[in-house]
Amino acid sequence: AKAWHLIRRPQGLPTIDNFALRELPDQPLENDQIRVRNLWLSVDPYMRGRMNDASSYAACFQLDQPMTGGAIGEILESRIDGFSPGDLIVHMGGWRDGGVIGLDMMPNKLPAELLSAGMTPQTFLHNMGLTGGTAWIGLLRVAAARPGDTVFVSAAAGAVGSAVVQLAKAREMTVIGSAGGAEKCAWVEELGADAVIDYKAGPVLPALAQALKSLGKPGIDVYFDNVGGEHLDAAFAVGNDFARFAICGMIDVYNDAKVQEMKYLVRTIPARIRMEGFIYTDQFFDCMEEFYADMGGLITSGAVTIRETVHDGLEATPRAFLGLFSGGNIGKMLVRL
Ligand code: NDP
Repeated sequence: AKAWHLIRRPQGLPTIDNFALRELPDQPLENDQIRVRNLWLSVDPYMRGRMNDASSYAACFQLDQPMTGGAIGEILESRIDGFSPGDLIVHMGGWRDGGVIGLDMMPNKLPAELLSAGMTPQTFLHNMGLTGGTAWIGLLRVAAARPGDTVFVSAAAGAVGSAVVQLAKAREMTVIGSAGGAEKCAWVEELGADAVIDYKAGPVLPALAQALKSLGKPGIDVYFDNVGGEHLDAAFAVGNDFARFAICGMIDVYNDAKVQEMKYLVRTIPARIRMEGFIYTDQFFDCMEEFYADMGGLITSGAVTIRETVHDGLEATPRAFLGLFSGGNIGKMLVRL
């Protein structure tokens, strides 16, 4: 098996030569280990933070060690009770085509009943996994969004954002999505957003104010932030009294510690805006059953869908990852092996 290794820590936007694809040593299986063949790999923006020499909520990647990340694999050989050859699992031993993994890679079997009902395995890397779970937790728990709320979401054509749009529509909220470019905006509209902003076509705040006006809404009750920067500041400017901001991500600053100019931050006071940052893994296990039941039902009924941007082959993994920072994906960015 082969795995991508981080060989140099990136300064700013990573480049292909920060990574090297290397052969993994052949290992016999020990107790509590399985041998897998990976079928799908996930690349996610949070992995950029793991490339810095500073651990935050996720430990940083060690130089010259195999990288890790979400993956779907098929078990070839097992010495873990309850796991058998042929089982499909979701686990953290990604950025590689397979090999030996242990319990630290958090293997979980995919629910056979959902697979036989037609759910694709890679759904557990997006809508039934990290990105759908993040959307669900951020919108419904952190922002406590309710029917009737006006919700603004940035990176709305991405994996998390597209799930936010659809979850909000399924609960009768008014949704304004922002995305870069006409094709993405058209898709966000197809997902049911009531208004869409192309942030690459002009400044965010006037477009957001115009969208609110056309919908007859005074401001936003919820902001789901995936981007930070200008989007977040525009959201402050139009926050209704007691608006709730779920701060999910700030991809605008992941590649450089930009100073974010927050001209409208001051509105948190008169409008009594509450903002809260959150991390998926802190909350997921508390609400997992409820999430699977709700999201599973919405996916099965067709209320929540996704587009996948697929790169083929292990070699493509860093390229797929880098594409996240230039908007190279519609929906979830995946690597198929
Ligand atoms: P996406 O599928 O949304 O991919 C990233 C998208 O971000 C790109 O397609 C691009 O879309 C947009 N983007 C990139 N750079 C910029 C920029 N400078 N300004 C505005 N938009 C930009 O990724 P995910 O759905 O996986 O993640 C979305 C956000 O959620 C990220 O910030 C991520 O870190 C965060 N996240 C947080 C978690 C948590 O636990 N808090 C868990 C999972 C994700 P466009 O073409 O529209 O610009």
